[in-house]
Amino acid sequence: VIDTLYVEEALLDHPRVHAIRSRHAGARVVSCRRYHEVFNRRAQDFRLQKRRPALLLAAKHGRLVMPAPPGYGIGAARNYYFSHMLNCLYDCRYCFLQGMYRSANYVLFVNYEAFADAIRVEIDAAPGVACFFSGYDCDSLALERLTGFVDFILPLFEAEPAAWLELRTKSVRIGALLGRRALRNCVVAYSLAPAAVAAAFEHRAPATAARLEALGRLGERGWPLGLRFDPLIRIEGFRQHYRDLFREVARRLDPAWIHSITLGAFRMPAGYFARLAQLYPDDRLLAGAFERRTGMTGYRAPVAQEMIAFCHEQLAQLLPGRPVFRCDLA
Ligand code: SF4
Repeated sequence: VIDTLYVEEALLDHPRVHAIRSRHAGARVVSCRRYHEVFNRRAQDFRLQKRRPALLLAAKHGRLVMPAPPGYGIGAARNYYFSHMLNCLYDCRYCFLQGMYRSANYVLFVNYEAFADAIRVEIDAAPGVACFFSGYDCDSLALERLTGFVDFILPLFEAEPAAWLELRTKSVRIGALLGRRALRNCVVAYSLAPAAVAAAFEHRAPATAARLEALGRLGERGWPLGLRFDPLIRIEGFRQHYRDLFREVARRLDPAWIHSITLGAFRMPAGYFARLAQLYPDDRLLAGAFERRTGMTGYRAPVAQEMIAFCHEQLAQLLPGRPVFRCDLA
C-alpha cells in the first residue's frame, strides 16, 4: 500500500502520473522540484521507510543506459544496464541497494520513451549483439502491475531481434509475460537460492519453490530462462543445500529452455557493506568471515573460488552443455 506519492512538479500532468494517481486515490500527493530533494535527504531511516515506502514519480535525465561492469555478461558482444526504478519490494539482507541509497522509498522514472531512445542508440552504436540488463537497481517484475514498464519495452525488443533484454527477478507475478507471445531475445532470469538461504535472508521474496514453478511456466511458453545463482551464500551444509537446489532445478526445467546460468559468490562494494553492517548489526550473514579486496567486501578468495567451482561442477553434470558464466572477484 502506497500512502504517499511524491511527484516532480514538471510531471504533474504526465499521463503515467495520472494513471498511477488514479490507482492510488487514497494516497497523499506531495509535489517536489526534483526527486533528489526527498530521496537523498540526510537523516532518513532506511529500516523504518522499508516498512511503508513512499513512491516518488520522477524523470530520469543524463545517461540512461550504462555499460555493464567488465566481466559481466551472458554471451553478448556488448553489455549495458539501465534502471527505470530504484529500490525494491523485497528485503534481501544481502542487497547492495540498502548500502547504496539512504532511502528505502521507491523511485519510478516515468519517461519510459527516453529509456527506449537510449537503448536504440546503443543497439545502433556498433555491430554485434548488445544485451541490456534491467533490474539492476530494482526487481524487473515485482512492481510491474504498478509500472507497466515491461509491457512498454518488450515491443522494442520484438522489433530488434539482434538485441537481448534480460529481466532479472524473484517475482512470480508473470502475467505480463504469459499474456503475450514469448520473445526469443528476452531472457527471464531468476535469482535462485536454496530454500534455507531464501528463508533466512530473502525477506518478503517468493519462496524458491514458487520461483521454480514460475520458471517452469515461462519455459513451457517458450521464454528463454536465465538461472542466476548469485550471490552464493555460504551457510552450514553449503554443498548439500546447493546440490539439492540444482537437482530440483534439473528435475523441473527442460535444459533446452535454459539460455544461461550465472554464478557469483556474495560480494559488495566495501562502502555499501559497511553501511549495511551498521543498519543490521546483529545479522548473521553480515557477521560472516569476509575480507576486503579491490574495493569490494566478500568471501576470502579461496573460499569464493571453491564455492563457485563446486557449483559449476554440479551444474555441468546436471545440465550439461548449458552456458555457465562466472562472476569471480579478482
Ligand atoms: S530482489 Fe534483488 S533488488 Fe530486491 S531486495 Fe532482493 S536483492 Fe535487492
